[in-house]
Amino acid sequence: MNAVRTEKMHNHCRDSIHAVHKIGTIIVGTQFIVSTEGGISLYQELINTLSKTEVLLEERMANHTSFRIGGPADLFCAVNSKEDLKKILGYTKEKQIPLLIVGNGSNLLVSDKGFRGIVLKLGEAFSSLSVEGSSIIAGAAVDLRRLCRFALENSLTGMEWAYGIPGTLAGAVFMNAGAYGGEFSQILESTTYWEEDFAEKEISNQEHDFSYRTSVFQKEKKNAIILSAKVKLSQGNPAEIEAKMKDYMERRITKQPLNLPSAGSVFRRPENAYVGQMVEELGLKGFSIGGAQVSEKHAGFIVNTGKASCEDVKHLIQYIQRKVEEQYGIKLKTEVREVGE
Ligand SMILES: Cc1cc2nc3c(=O)[nH]c(=O)nc-3n(C[C@H](O)[C@H](O)[C@H](O)COP(=O)(O)OP(=O)(O)OC[C@H]3O[C@@H](n4cnc5c(N)ncnc54)[C@H](O)[C@@H]3O)c2cc1C
Repeated sequence: MNAVRTEKMHNHCRDSIHAVHKIGTIIVGTQFIVSTEGGISLYQELINTLSKTEVLLEERMANHTSFRIGGPADLFCAVNSKEDLKKILGYTKEKQIPLLIVGNGSNLLVSDKGFRGIVLKLGEAFSSLSVEGSSIIAGAAVDLRRLCRFALENSLTGMEWAYGIPGTLAGAVFMNAGAYGGEFSQILESTTYWEEDFAEKEISNQEHDFSYRTSVFQKEKKNAIILSAKVKLSQGNPAEIEAKMKDYMERRITKQPLNLPSAGSVFRRPENAYVGQMVEELGLKGFSIGGAQVSEKHAGFIVNTGKASCEDVKHLIQYIQRKVEEQYGIKLKTEVREVGE
Protein backbone atom coordinates (compact mmCIF):
# COMPACT_ATOMS: atom_id res chain seq x y z
CA MET A 1 0.00 0.00 0.00
CA ASN A 2 1.37 3.40 -0.86
CA ALA A 3 1.40 6.21 1.63
CA VAL A 4 -1.92 7.96 1.70
CA ARG A 5 -1.34 11.44 0.37
CA THR A 6 -3.79 13.72 2.04
CA GLU A 7 -3.05 17.25 1.03
CA LYS A 8 -4.96 19.80 2.98
CA MET A 9 -3.88 22.73 0.88
CA HIS A 10 -6.63 24.90 2.16
CA ASN A 11 -6.22 28.65 2.27
CA HIS A 12 -4.58 28.69 5.66
CA CYS A 13 -1.91 26.30 4.46
CA ARG A 14 -1.30 28.11 1.17
CA ASP A 15 -0.90 31.38 3.03
CA SER A 16 1.57 29.80 5.39
CA ILE A 17 3.83 28.57 2.59
CA HIS A 18 5.67 31.86 2.85
CA ALA A 19 5.78 31.78 6.63
CA VAL A 20 9.02 30.38 7.97
CA HIS A 21 9.29 29.23 11.56
CA LYS A 22 12.84 29.04 12.81
CA ILE A 23 13.70 26.63 15.57
CA GLY A 24 17.38 26.71 16.43
CA THR A 25 19.30 26.14 13.21
CA ILE A 26 16.62 24.26 11.35
CA ILE A 27 13.58 25.60 9.61
CA VAL A 28 10.35 23.76 10.05
CA GLY A 29 6.89 24.42 8.72
CA THR A 30 7.69 25.59 5.22
CA GLN A 31 10.44 23.05 4.65
CA PHE A 32 7.85 20.29 4.76
CA ILE A 33 6.13 21.74 1.71
CA VAL A 34 8.92 23.57 -0.12
CA SER A 35 12.44 22.25 0.19
CA THR A 36 14.86 24.76 1.64
CA GLU A 37 17.79 22.93 0.11
CA GLY A 38 16.64 22.80 -3.49
CA GLY A 39 15.67 19.12 -3.29
CA ILE A 40 12.30 17.55 -2.63
CA SER A 41 10.49 18.58 0.52
CA LEU A 42 10.40 16.40 3.59
CA TYR A 43 6.67 16.07 3.14
CA GLN A 44 7.21 14.67 -0.36
CA GLU A 45 10.06 12.50 0.88
CA LEU A 46 7.84 10.99 3.57
CA ILE A 47 5.04 10.40 1.09
CA ASN A 48 7.50 8.63 -1.22
CA THR A 49 9.18 6.57 1.49
CA LEU A 50 6.44 5.51 3.88
CA SER A 51 4.21 2.66 2.83
CA LYS A 52 1.68 2.40 5.66
CA THR A 53 1.45 5.89 7.04
CA GLU A 54 -1.02 8.64 6.44
CA VAL A 55 0.81 11.95 6.19
CA LEU A 56 -1.21 15.10 6.79
CA LEU A 57 -0.04 18.66 6.30
CA GLU A 58 -1.10 21.30 8.82
CA GLU A 59 -3.52 18.93 10.52
CA ARG A 60 -5.41 20.65 13.33
CA MET A 61 -4.59 19.06 16.67
CA ALA A 62 -8.13 19.86 17.82
CA ASN A 63 -9.05 16.76 15.79
CA HIS A 64 -6.79 14.63 17.99
CA THR A 65 -7.41 15.91 21.52
CA SER A 66 -10.33 15.20 23.84
CA PHE A 67 -10.41 18.95 24.64
CA ARG A 68 -11.05 19.61 20.89
CA ILE A 69 -8.41 22.33 21.17
CA GLY A 70 -5.13 22.79 19.30
CA GLY A 71 -3.82 24.48 16.18
CA PRO A 72 -2.07 22.80 13.24
CA ALA A 73 0.84 20.38 13.42
CA ASP A 74 3.29 21.05 10.57
CA LEU A 75 3.14 17.35 9.75
CA PHE A 76 0.91 14.72 11.31
CA CYS A 77 1.78 11.08 10.70
CA ALA A 78 -0.69 8.31 11.50
CA VAL A 79 1.85 5.48 11.58
CA ASN A 80 0.91 1.92 10.79
CA SER A 81 4.12 -0.07 10.78
CA LYS A 82 7.31 -0.31 12.79
CA GLU A 83 9.36 0.17 9.60
CA ASP A 84 7.62 3.48 8.87
CA LEU A 85 8.03 4.56 12.49
CA LYS A 86 11.75 3.84 12.28
CA LYS A 87 12.07 5.87 9.06
CA ILE A 88 10.25 8.88 10.52
CA LEU A 89 12.37 8.78 13.67
CA GLY A 90 15.45 8.56 11.44
CA TYR A 91 14.40 11.80 9.71
CA THR A 92 13.55 13.64 12.90
CA LYS A 93 16.90 12.67 14.40
CA GLU A 94 18.96 13.51 11.32
CA LYS A 95 17.22 16.83 10.67
CA GLN A 96 16.66 17.64 14.36
CA ILE A 97 12.94 18.09 13.87
CA PRO A 98 10.86 18.41 17.05
CA LEU A 99 8.66 15.38 17.62
CA LEU A 100 5.50 14.84 19.61
CA ILE A 101 3.87 11.45 20.03
CA VAL A 102 0.23 11.36 20.98
CA GLY A 103 -2.09 8.61 22.17
CA ASN A 104 -5.77 9.54 22.40
CA GLY A 105 -4.85 13.13 23.29
CA SER A 106 -6.96 12.88 26.44
CA ASN A 107 -4.40 14.55 28.69
CA LEU A 108 -3.14 17.22 26.32
CA LEU A 109 -3.63 20.95 26.02
CA VAL A 110 -2.19 21.92 22.64
CA SER A 111 -1.46 25.57 21.85
CA ASP A 112 -3.65 27.53 19.43
CA LYS A 113 -0.61 28.00 17.16
CA GLY A 114 -0.15 24.24 17.08
CA PHE A 115 3.05 22.24 16.97
CA ARG A 116 6.13 23.12 14.89
CA GLY A 117 7.47 19.73 13.93
CA ILE A 118 6.09 16.24 13.42
CA VAL A 119 3.28 14.71 15.44
CA LEU A 120 3.05 10.91 15.49
CA LYS A 121 0.04 8.81 16.29
CA LEU A 122 0.37 5.03 16.37
CA GLY A 123 -2.37 3.11 14.56
CA GLU A 124 -3.82 -0.40 14.32
CA ALA A 125 -0.41 -2.03 13.80
CA PHE A 126 0.33 -1.08 17.41
CA SER A 127 -2.96 -2.41 18.78
CA SER A 128 -2.27 -6.12 19.21
CA LEU A 129 -3.70 -8.01 22.19
CA SER A 130 -2.68 -11.40 23.53
CA VAL A 131 -2.85 -13.40 26.74
CA GLU A 132 0.06 -15.15 28.45
CA GLY A 133 -1.02 -16.97 31.60
CA SER A 134 -2.84 -14.34 33.60
CA SER A 135 -1.05 -11.45 31.90
CA ILE A 136 -2.07 -9.43 28.85
CA ILE A 137 0.45 -8.16 26.34
CA ALA A 138 -0.96 -5.19 24.46
CA GLY A 139 0.22 -2.71 21.86
CA ALA A 140 0.85 0.93 22.79
CA ALA A 141 -2.17 2.21 20.87
CA VAL A 142 -4.74 -0.09 22.49
CA ASP A 143 -7.58 1.93 23.97
CA LEU A 144 -7.95 1.26 27.71
CA ARG A 145 -11.66 0.54 27.35
CA ARG A 146 -10.83 -2.15 24.77
CA LEU A 147 -8.10 -3.52 27.04
CA CYS A 148 -10.52 -3.78 29.98
CA ARG A 149 -13.10 -5.55 27.84
CA PHE A 150 -10.39 -7.95 26.62
CA ALA A 151 -9.50 -8.69 30.26
CA LEU A 152 -13.18 -9.44 30.90
CA GLU A 153 -13.40 -11.73 27.85
CA ASN A 154 -10.48 -13.69 29.32
CA SER A 155 -11.87 -13.72 32.89
CA LEU A 156 -8.96 -11.62 34.13
CA THR A 157 -9.46 -9.31 37.07
CA GLY A 158 -7.41 -6.42 38.48
CA MET A 159 -7.90 -3.50 36.13
CA GLU A 160 -11.64 -2.83 36.28
CA TRP A 161 -10.92 0.62 37.79
CA ALA A 162 -9.33 1.67 34.48
CA TYR A 163 -12.55 1.12 32.55
CA GLY A 164 -13.62 4.55 31.33
CA ILE A 165 -10.23 6.29 31.35
CA PRO A 166 -10.26 7.52 27.74
CA GLY A 167 -6.55 6.99 26.99
CA THR A 168 -4.32 4.47 25.26
CA LEU A 169 -2.12 1.95 27.04
CA ALA A 170 1.02 3.99 26.22
CA GLY A 171 -0.56 7.19 27.54
CA ALA A 172 -1.55 5.34 30.71
CA VAL A 173 1.95 3.95 31.29
CA PHE A 174 3.48 7.37 30.58
CA MET A 175 1.08 9.05 33.04
CA ASN A 176 0.76 6.19 35.54
CA ALA A 177 -2.97 6.69 35.05
CA GLY A 178 -5.19 5.71 37.93
CA ALA A 179 -8.67 5.88 39.40
CA TYR A 180 -10.68 4.63 42.39
CA GLY A 181 -7.61 3.45 44.28
CA GLY A 182 -5.98 1.65 41.34
CA GLU A 183 -3.12 2.83 39.16
CA PHE A 184 -0.88 1.36 36.47
CA SER A 185 2.06 0.99 38.83
CA GLN A 186 0.07 -1.79 40.57
CA ILE A 187 -0.57 -3.92 37.47
CA LEU A 188 2.22 -3.17 35.02
CA GLU A 189 4.71 -5.99 34.60
CA SER A 190 6.92 -4.53 31.86
CA THR A 191 7.06 -2.07 28.97
CA THR A 192 8.90 -2.31 25.65
CA TYR A 193 10.05 0.85 23.93
CA TRP A 194 12.51 2.35 21.48
CA GLU A 195 15.02 4.99 22.19
CA GLU A 196 17.10 6.77 19.60
CA ASP A 197 19.16 3.69 18.66
CA PHE A 198 15.95 1.77 17.76
CA ALA A 199 17.04 -1.22 19.79
CA GLU A 200 13.90 -2.63 21.41
CA LYS A 201 14.29 -2.41 25.19
CA GLU A 202 12.19 -3.80 27.98
CA ILE A 203 11.93 -2.49 31.53
CA SER A 204 10.34 -4.12 34.54
CA ASN A 205 7.78 -2.48 36.82
CA GLN A 206 10.47 -1.36 39.30
CA GLU A 207 12.42 0.41 36.56
CA HIS A 208 9.46 2.69 35.75
CA ASP A 209 10.16 4.90 38.78
CA PHE A 210 6.40 5.27 39.19
CA SER A 211 4.82 7.79 41.51
CA TYR A 212 1.57 9.79 41.42
CA ARG A 213 0.75 10.39 37.71
CA THR A 214 4.35 10.07 36.64
CA SER A 215 6.79 7.51 35.29
CA VAL A 216 10.33 7.26 34.00
CA PHE A 217 8.98 8.25 30.54
CA GLN A 218 8.43 11.79 31.85
CA LYS A 219 11.95 11.88 33.25
CA GLU A 220 15.09 10.07 32.00
CA LYS A 221 13.33 8.43 29.05
CA LYS A 222 11.68 11.51 27.58
CA ASN A 223 12.57 10.53 24.01
CA ALA A 224 11.39 6.94 24.24
CA ILE A 225 8.58 5.62 22.08
CA ILE A 226 6.48 3.12 24.01
CA LEU A 227 5.64 0.15 21.77
CA SER A 228 3.80 -2.28 24.03
CA ALA A 229 3.29 -3.27 27.65
CA LYS A 230 2.41 -6.30 29.75
CA VAL A 231 -0.13 -6.06 32.55
CA LYS A 232 -0.34 -8.68 35.27
CA LEU A 233 -3.87 -9.61 36.32
CA SER A 234 -5.36 -12.67 37.99
CA GLN A 235 -8.09 -15.17 37.19
CA GLY A 236 -11.52 -13.94 38.21
CA ASN A 237 -15.22 -14.44 37.83
CA PRO A 238 -16.52 -12.78 34.61
CA ALA A 239 -19.84 -11.74 36.16
CA GLU A 240 -18.03 -10.02 39.05
CA ILE A 241 -15.53 -8.37 36.71
CA GLU A 242 -18.32 -7.05 34.52
CA ALA A 243 -20.30 -5.78 37.52
CA LYS A 244 -17.24 -3.85 38.78
CA MET A 245 -16.59 -2.34 35.35
CA LYS A 246 -20.21 -1.27 35.10
CA ASP A 247 -20.08 0.27 38.57
CA TYR A 248 -16.92 2.30 37.78
CA MET A 249 -18.40 3.47 34.47
CA GLU A 250 -21.63 4.53 36.17
CA ARG A 251 -19.69 6.53 38.77
CA ARG A 252 -17.96 8.37 35.91
CA ILE A 253 -21.20 9.04 34.08
CA THR A 254 -22.78 10.38 37.29
CA LYS A 255 -19.87 12.56 38.45
CA GLN A 256 -18.03 13.67 35.29
CA PRO A 257 -19.08 16.04 32.49
CA LEU A 258 -18.68 13.42 29.76
CA ASN A 259 -21.00 15.31 27.41
CA LEU A 260 -18.47 18.13 26.92
CA PRO A 261 -14.86 18.07 25.65
CA SER A 262 -12.25 18.11 28.43
CA ALA A 263 -8.95 16.58 29.44
CA GLY A 264 -10.23 15.11 32.70
CA SER A 265 -8.89 16.48 35.98
CA VAL A 266 -6.84 19.54 35.15
CA PHE A 267 -4.80 19.66 38.35
CA ARG A 268 -2.72 17.14 40.23
CA ARG A 269 -4.19 16.18 43.58
CA PRO A 270 -2.40 18.16 46.31
CA GLU A 271 -1.62 16.53 49.65
CA ASN A 272 -4.50 16.52 52.12
CA ALA A 273 -6.88 18.50 49.92
CA TYR A 274 -9.35 18.00 47.08
CA VAL A 275 -9.17 20.33 44.11
CA GLY A 276 -12.84 19.96 43.20
CA GLN A 277 -13.93 20.79 46.74
CA MET A 278 -11.72 23.90 46.98
CA VAL A 279 -12.80 25.21 43.58
CA GLU A 280 -16.43 24.62 44.50
CA GLU A 281 -16.04 26.37 47.87
CA LEU A 282 -14.59 29.35 46.01
CA GLY A 283 -17.86 29.56 44.08
CA LEU A 284 -16.14 28.89 40.78
CA LYS A 285 -18.37 26.10 39.47
CA GLY A 286 -19.65 27.30 36.11
CA PHE A 287 -17.17 30.22 36.01
CA SER A 288 -15.91 30.80 32.45
CA ILE A 289 -13.23 32.62 30.54
CA GLY A 290 -14.07 32.69 26.84
CA GLY A 291 -15.22 29.20 25.90
CA ALA A 292 -13.45 27.51 28.83
CA GLN A 293 -15.61 26.77 31.85
CA VAL A 294 -15.17 25.20 35.27
CA SER A 295 -17.53 22.25 34.90
CA GLU A 296 -20.90 22.64 36.60
CA LYS A 297 -20.81 18.91 37.31
CA HIS A 298 -17.24 18.40 38.59
CA ALA A 299 -15.22 21.44 39.68
CA GLY A 300 -11.91 19.63 39.04
CA PHE A 301 -12.67 19.58 35.30
CA ILE A 302 -12.42 22.44 32.81
CA VAL A 303 -14.72 21.92 29.83
CA ASN A 304 -14.76 23.37 26.35
CA THR A 305 -18.26 24.78 25.91
CA GLY A 306 -17.85 25.06 22.16
CA LYS A 307 -15.24 27.53 20.99
CA ALA A 308 -12.64 27.48 23.76
CA SER A 309 -9.11 28.37 22.74
CA CYS A 310 -5.99 27.10 24.46
CA GLU A 311 -5.47 30.64 25.74
CA ASP A 312 -8.95 30.61 27.34
CA VAL A 313 -8.10 27.37 29.17
CA LYS A 314 -4.68 28.66 30.27
CA HIS A 315 -6.19 31.88 31.63
CA LEU A 316 -8.82 29.91 33.52
CA ILE A 317 -6.14 27.59 34.95
CA GLN A 318 -4.11 30.60 36.12
CA TYR A 319 -7.21 32.22 37.62
CA ILE A 320 -8.07 29.07 39.60
CA GLN A 321 -4.44 28.69 40.74
CA ARG A 322 -4.39 32.29 41.98
CA LYS A 323 -7.69 32.01 43.83
CA VAL A 324 -6.80 28.67 45.47
CA GLU A 325 -3.43 29.98 46.58
CA GLU A 326 -4.96 33.17 48.02
CA GLN A 327 -7.63 31.26 49.93
CA TYR A 328 -5.89 28.00 50.91
CA GLY A 329 -2.17 28.72 50.46
CA ILE A 330 -1.90 25.72 48.10
CA LYS A 331 -0.06 25.96 44.79
CA LEU A 332 -1.95 23.79 42.31
CA LYS A 333 0.12 22.02 39.67
CA THR A 334 -1.37 20.91 36.37
CA GLU A 335 -1.80 17.26 35.46
CA VAL A 336 -2.77 18.15 31.89
CA ARG A 337 0.30 18.39 29.66
CA GLU A 338 0.71 21.65 27.77
CA VAL A 339 2.37 21.24 24.39
CA GLY A 340 3.01 23.29 21.29
CA GLU A 341 4.30 26.67 20.25
C1 LIG B 1 -13.20 12.48 30.67
C2 LIG B 1 -11.79 12.14 31.11
C3 LIG B 1 -11.60 11.35 32.23
C4 LIG B 1 -10.31 11.02 32.65
N1 LIG B 1 -10.14 10.25 33.74
C5 LIG B 1 -8.91 9.90 34.16
C6 LIG B 1 -8.72 9.08 35.31
O1 LIG B 1 -9.67 8.63 35.94
N2 LIG B 1 -7.44 8.81 35.68
C7 LIG B 1 -6.36 9.27 35.01
O2 LIG B 1 -5.22 8.97 35.39
N3 LIG B 1 -6.50 10.05 33.90
C8 LIG B 1 -7.74 10.38 33.47
N4 LIG B 1 -7.89 11.17 32.36
C9 LIG B 1 -6.71 11.70 31.65
C10 LIG B 1 -6.16 10.79 30.53
O3 LIG B 1 -7.19 9.99 29.98
C11 LIG B 1 -5.00 9.92 31.00
O4 LIG B 1 -3.91 10.71 31.43
C12 LIG B 1 -4.50 8.96 29.91
O5 LIG B 1 -3.58 8.08 30.47
C13 LIG B 1 -3.84 9.68 28.73
O6 LIG B 1 -3.69 8.73 27.67
P1 LIG B 1 -3.65 9.20 26.14
O7 LIG B 1 -3.45 8.02 25.29
O8 LIG B 1 -4.83 10.04 25.82
O9 LIG B 1 -2.32 10.08 26.14
P2 LIG B 1 -2.09 11.51 25.50
O10 LIG B 1 -2.92 12.51 26.21
O11 LIG B 1 -2.21 11.45 24.03
O12 LIG B 1 -0.57 11.73 25.89
C14 LIG B 1 -0.17 11.82 27.25
C15 LIG B 1 1.35 11.76 27.29
O13 LIG B 1 1.78 10.44 26.91
C16 LIG B 1 2.76 10.53 25.88
N5 LIG B 1 2.61 9.35 25.01
C17 LIG B 1 1.49 8.90 24.42
N6 LIG B 1 1.76 7.80 23.69
C18 LIG B 1 3.08 7.55 23.82
C19 LIG B 1 3.97 6.55 23.30
N7 LIG B 1 3.57 5.57 22.48
N8 LIG B 1 5.29 6.61 23.65
C20 LIG B 1 5.74 7.60 24.47
N9 LIG B 1 4.95 8.57 24.98
C21 LIG B 1 3.64 8.55 24.66
C22 LIG B 1 2.42 11.82 25.14
O14 LIG B 1 3.54 12.33 24.44
C23 LIG B 1 2.00 12.73 26.28
O15 LIG B 1 3.10 13.37 26.89
C24 LIG B 1 -9.18 11.51 31.91
C25 LIG B 1 -9.38 12.29 30.78
C26 LIG B 1 -10.67 12.61 30.36
C27 LIG B 1 -10.87 13.43 29.13
